[in-house]
Amino acid sequence: MPRSADVVVIGAGIIGICTALFLARRGRSVLVCEKGRIAGEQSSRNWGWCRKMGRDPVEIPLAIASARLWEGMNALVEGETGFRRTGILYLCRNDREIAKYEAWLDHARRHGLDSRLISETEIATLLPGLASRWPGALLTPSDGRAEPALATVAMAKAAARLGARIVESCAVRGVETAAGAVDAVVTEHGAVRTRRVVLAGGAWSRLFCGNLGIAFPQLKVLGSVLRTKPLPGAPDLAVAGADFAFRKRLDGGYTIAQKNANIAHVVPDSFRLFFRFLPAFRSEGNDIRLRFGRPFFDELRSAKRWGLDEASPFERQRVLDPAPSQRILAQGLRNLTRSFPVFGDARIAEQWAGAIDVTPDAIPVISPVGQIPGFFIASGFSGHGFGVAPAAGHLMTDLVSGETPIVDPQPYSLLRLGAGQSRVPKAQPGGPRSAEVD
Ligand SMILES: Cc1cc2nc3c(=O)[nH]c(=O)nc-3n(C[C@H](O)[C@H](O)[C@H](O)COP(=O)(O)OP(=O)(O)OC[C@H]3O[C@@H](n4cnc5c(N)ncnc54)[C@H](O)[C@@H]3O)c2cc1C
Repeated sequence: MPRSADVVVIGAGIIGICTALFLARRGRSVLVCEKGRIAGEQSSRNWGWCRKMGRDPVEIPLAIASARLWEGMNALVEGETGFRRTGILYLCRNDREIAKYEAWLDHARRHGLDSRLISETEIATLLPGLASRWPGALLTPSDGRAEPALATVAMAKAAARLGARIVESCAVRGVETAAGAVDAVVTEHGAVRTRRVVLAGGAWSRLFCGNLGIAFPQLKVLGSVLRTKPLPGAPDLAVAGADFAFRKRLDGGYTIAQKNANIAHVVPDSFRLFFRFLPAFRSEGNDIRLRFGRPFFDELRSAKRWGLDEASPFERQRVLDPAPSQRILAQGLRNLTRSFPVFGDARIAEQWAGAIDVTPDAIPVISPVGQIPGFFIASGFSGHGFGVAPAAGHLMTDLVSGETPIVDPQPYSLLRLGAGQSRVPKAQPGGPRSAEVD
């Protein structure tokens, strides 16, 4: 472990690694600490869609900047991220869905995107094997896909070649401050002096922040995914219908999931954050399947506060590896096969699940934390952090370095969630285990 670094990044998912890559390119000394392994959590478990289409209007600039960076990513990292610009298509079931996308196209046009609504005839030309009828679809030819199993690792290798140190099996327990500002991080392998810390902890960021006295509103939902062995004759476009989604993989297989069928376990945070997430639940609730059970008691028992001289929760669970829902996956594959009979021949190679971290407005936080000068958060990517990661890492680097940001950072500030400016934290060895911050 180095004794000091210009910047310490917590978490080697795609967000932490992209941040390290751009920092290293600017000549900063960077240490990335990862409690488990590079891209062990969301960043290797996602669908691999890199999409501008359908984004919240405030996030479109970030998605556009990312698309540009993805285009040059293989050259930049001198490796294979799997990025291909193959287009993404959303099938519409009815006029209501068409009208929804028509309204969104106003934003797309304002940003010069190539998204457009297409007719039933054009759908049939683009997707010759389609057996069901869809009255229209939203298409973005310039959207693409990359390989979650390859991308973050390729970017990490490039960051390391530029001098970044990436240490796996190294949990960060907390941050030490001097005169209120960041002075060091304390890891399970010792302290590292630094004036800048970027928390890119994915689903763990809320827990980490809580120990620092920062109320970061974040919940988790579980998505189940499967991949098939190579399957000839299926489409090259990534496609989502009402109850399925698929994209072709570099190996010729397909990554398949049931669209809008995520599981949310009811946990103590569900109650603590109930009113914050209520508007989102009202509009997206149909896509969420609530479950009551053991996770409630597991989270109730788990430590919310710890001293920096004792093992933290991050050392107890190196890789968050939830079980996939066989039922949701089987349904998704059945739904898909009804529309695309070619998938009836698919042979399943692997199934898995991932815990997606979400914020109340489903917009990420890429922001300094006013409460602790030198502390930054890049987290809460709400199910679309893979696609926007390059620009998110670039933006975080700009903020840390005090340089002109690649896009306006305002929409991603922590303050919009009413957090980050309250009381000064007390995260000292053996410090108090006070009650919840929220
Ligand atoms: C099933 C599924 C499908 C998805 N599909 C898409 C998609 O198609 N397109 C898209 O754009 N996005 C998608 N996403 C979302 C995307 O994967 C995430 O937004 C993105 O990977 C988030 O990256 P991250 O680096 O923030 O988090 P993660 O990849 O989760 O990485 C966080 C890392 O921080 C580490 N960590 C946490 N706390 C500590 C600590 N204290 N010390 C050290 N290390 C720590 C963790 O171990 C972890 O490795 C999907 C996600 C899932 C689960």
